Amino acid sequence: MNTSTTIDELKSIVHASKAKGKRVGFVPTMGALHPGHASLIERAAQACEEVVVSIFVNPTQFNNRKDFETYPLMMDKDLEVAQEAGATVVFAPHVDELYGGDLAVAPVDYGPLTSSYEGQKRKGHFDGVVAVVRKLFSAVEADAAFFGEKDLQQLAVIRKLAEDEFIGLEIAGCPLIREPDGLAMSSRNVRLVGEFRQTALALHGWLNRINNQACKPSDIQTALRAIESEAAEMEGVELEYIDVVNGLSFEPLRDGPVGPDAFAIVAAQVGGVRLIDNCALACS
Ligand code: AMP
Repeated sequence: MNTSTTIDELKSIVHASKAKGKRVGFVPTMGALHPGHASLIERAAQACEEVVVSIFVNPTQFNNRKDFETYPLMMDKDLEVAQEAGATVVFAPHVDELYGGDLAVAPVDYGPLTSSYEGQKRKGHFDGVVAVVRKLFSAVEADAAFFGEKDLQQLAVIRKLAEDEFIGLEIAGCPLIREPDGLAMSSRNVRLVGEFRQTALALHGWLNRINNQACKPSDIQTALRAIESEAAEMEGVELEYIDVVNGLSFEPLRDGPVGPDAFAIVAAQVGGVRLIDNCALACS
């Protein structure tokens, strides 16, 4: 496995691969790799001969300085996980290599996609995500890029970015990977201490409760309100949002039938750790 910290070096590796007719896959990450990330790399390795994994904690997408400063870093272990999962190149640039000393990013307006839910609760978050992914897509020049459905709204934003600016780049959405007890895997889970690890299971439980109403959409609003009241009583829990949306447009589905793109989405702080989760609604 190659490692590279500069765009020039990365480009020379990728161009050499392309000259040999290899398909290039790309998996952007912020490191602290876990099996959720590994599943993306494995998917990329099944579809592509060259698999570039970027490890870069992007300062411009953090709306909360403490969250950025406490974001877990573990490069040595990450290199092992990436290689084991099938990465052929790890690109780990310094912040100046991507931003050239200027951390100002342009605002992005994709309508509700960037203004609602994560966009509303984390002001400027998607401006930073789009800025860094645009730079990374330009640096890597991949044929396909792999993103987790764990960050469902981000995936929809990236699809729009690719459609507008990176014609021909395939965006592959990959399934959300959970811990055996149902907690969505996240690099931030290591910061869930004591009883908060158990409390965090509430998010998955709430999503399941909403999914249980998928055959009776008229009851979904009642379930959402009940969950909000319950969360308000929970020690150390701050529910930011829970709702049912179209997973492509991120417009709320207030009433009416639950269609094929209906998802329940949730974000909450548990013991000071911000967690998000989602599940596709299926009437069975
Ligand atoms: P991050 O390092 O958190 O920025 O995530 C990098 C990529 O891994 C994103 O496309 C995430 O959606 C994806 N990812 C993170 N956690 C999971 C998970 N539990 N299951 C699937 N994909 C994930």
